[in-house]
Amino acid sequence: MKMKNWGNGWHISRLCFGVLPMGPLQKNLSPEKGGEILLDSFRRGVNFLDTAQNYRTYPHIRCALDRWDGHYIYVASKSTASTYEDMEEAVCEALTELNRDCIDIFHLHAARVGPEVFSERAGALQCLRDHQNRGTVGRTGISTHSAQTVRQAAHKDSIDVVFPLINISGLGILDGERRDMEEAIARTAAAGKRLYAMKVFGGGNLLSDREEALRYALSLEGIDAVCIGMVNSDEVNVNVALLDGKADDELLKRTEQTASKQILISPFCAGCGTCIEHCPNDALTIDEDKGICRVNADRCILCGYCAPTCPEFAIRMI
Ligand code: SF4
Ligand code: SF4
Repeated sequence: MKMKNWGNGWHISRLCFGVLPMGPLQKNLSPEKGGEILLDSFRRGVNFLDTAQNYRTYPHIRCALDRWDGHYIYVASKSTASTYEDMEEAVCEALTELNRDCIDIFHLHAARVGPEVFSERAGALQCLRDHQNRGTVGRTGISTHSAQTVRQAAHKDSIDVVFPLINISGLGILDGERRDMEEAIARTAAAGKRLYAMKVFGGGNLLSDREEALRYALSLEGIDAVCIGMVNSDEVNVNVALLDGKADDELLKRTEQTASKQILISPFCAGCGTCIEHCPNDALTIDEDKGICRVNADRCILCGYCAPTCPEFAIRMI
């Protein structure tokens, strides 16, 4: 597995294991099963995991970490907390549930928030810096879908790591096009920040040409690693092989086939209704009581047309 030197003795794998999809918001694997898949990735050289407070996957990670005695594993987490007190709770929860003395990277989880996040969540950011000074957080970061926020992060001394959304089709970028995010990433890297990329497969919508999607993300100036969600060992194997430039056609085909069997609407659905306009089969409706989208399984033909239209990446074909 190729590594990237982030200084201060940190060498992170260029493949970062995105832990969200194995958890209760998506595939809902048991912590034991999820832990086994994580262990498989460690054996293949992965040493970098990304999760979040609201993904509810700390038990899965804990299962793997408790059974691993090999190379060091870097863990990134994040929280949507705004205040100092709420962020304090989030960091303490991660330290306790993961049984760690330090969370290597802790982000402001600011997916769809613009640059105002730095003032609106000043308390939460200060909390992360205080933890960093005490050694209970390694580096402070921000995860974002916004090119403007990435650009602003370049000037923030309090931010060490940026986790931006970028993919070859520009799917999901909040306030611009692909080239806007590319420029923001390059500028932020030039300012000395470390960056790794999310949604390089567009939430699963670019899996049919994942080699090209991956090649694109890794070729970007400033992107040191790519975070990819994985839910079985075949996916670990194929992504490790892709990162090593040794993709196996049979495995590629098999993992692509298993990628389109079911549609899931995550709790991140904001009830905007955009997907409904793109469904060719009238299979989607808004549940007025809960304000989220519902799929009529009798009408859904699993075509996947709705998934890339969701601004929240709340639709997943698995
Ligand atoms: S997968 Fe196709 S048929 Fe099913 S809800 Fe989405 S757009 Fe409609
Ligand atoms: S699934 Fe996405 S596009 Fe559909 S209503 Fe929810 S947020 Fe909007």
